[in-house]
Amino acid sequence: MGKKVNLKSFSKDELFHFIEVAGLPRFRAGQLIHWIYQRYATDISCITELSKELRSGLERMAYISDLKLLRRLKSSDGTEKFLFSLEDAETIESVLIPDDARLTLCISSQVGCAMGCKFCLTGKLGLIRNLRAYEIADQVIAVNRLILPQKITNIVMMGMGEPLANLDEVAEALWRITEFIDISKRRITLSTAGLVPRMALLADRAPHVNLAVSLNASSDKVRDDIMPINRRYPLKALIEACKKFPLGPRRRITFEYVLIGGVNDSPEDAGRLVKLVRGLRCKINLIPLNPHPESGMKRPSDAVVLKFQKALVDSGLTAFIRESKGQDILAACGQLRAGH
Ligand code: SAH
Ligand code: SF4
Repeated sequence: MGKKVNLKSFSKDELFHFIEVAGLPRFRAGQLIHWIYQRYATDISCITELSKELRSGLERMAYISDLKLLRRLKSSDGTEKFLFSLEDAETIESVLIPDDARLTLCISSQVGCAMGCKFCLTGKLGLIRNLRAYEIADQVIAVNRLILPQKITNIVMMGMGEPLANLDEVAEALWRITEFIDISKRRITLSTAGLVPRMALLADRAPHVNLAVSLNASSDKVRDDIMPINRRYPLKALIEACKKFPLGPRRRITFEYVLIGGVNDSPEDAGRLVKLVRGLRCKINLIPLNPHPESGMKRPSDAVVLKFQKALVDSGLTAFIRESKGQDILAACGQLRAGH
């Protein structure tokens, strides 16, 4: 007998095809989808809606993959961090951020990242591999199972990796998260470092998902230095792509701006930033750098952070300060994996 197939590796069409080839009626596919994505089944033998014979028949051909939880850490601010291992023993992180009535899960799209941003620990790893769609969606399923009876309400794709560099798998994962796991597209935000040609594709492949763009600099000179992707797609092209991005009514683009001491936090930077985003329906999230030892970069003082925010707000922009959550548990991008 050949290798067993992973039911989670199938798209909806592939699962229906599998069921048909197995000589089963079509509604069995719907039952499997319900048990896998809504009841978080990881073992065919537990799908009690199916007869014992059917379960053991399916088990001879197929299995349901699962993420293996390696560590679960809770921060004093309520943030929880999950370190998972994949079937090939690579590891990824997901971070759960409770906030009023919302439970937001920050998920990863790649193991490592090829973009090489200087301030980012994931960037230091380089790209190890893309995640498959089921490995991306599985972060939502696994955490939902771990926090029962609660349920994740919002998704941000801001964990490890550059999602637009893995767009096929990311789009399929987002489809499953909305259609099978039932989280509305309006509650999903994808963050990109600015892969300009893929931004238009995203609007086609995952319509109505919110867009966040990691700007992190107000000039090409600084952005070239801290985000190498800028040498391929400089600020003018990036802002142009943002202007073309289709926004639903009352929707805004989020610009993330990591504030790095002495690098991009001057009053001149604030002034240039205001000019850059002029005319765009947007808000700005200022994220004081969460420094890691190798980067040699510093977090600005609180006074500098507040002054930067004030300059933006005084110019009519919406700007929030977003602390990286869970600093005591190394919740920032890539830090838990790095310490494992
Ligand atoms: N690759 C995508 C999404 C993952 S990074 C992107 O770059 O947008 C998610 C966010 O974390 C980005 O806005 C990035 O600028 C920010 N980030 C990375 N390293 C950080 C650090 N050390 N401190 C604070 N924010 C950081
Ligand atoms: Fe990759 Fe985003 Fe980190 Fe840059 S900031 S290296 S794009 S994960």
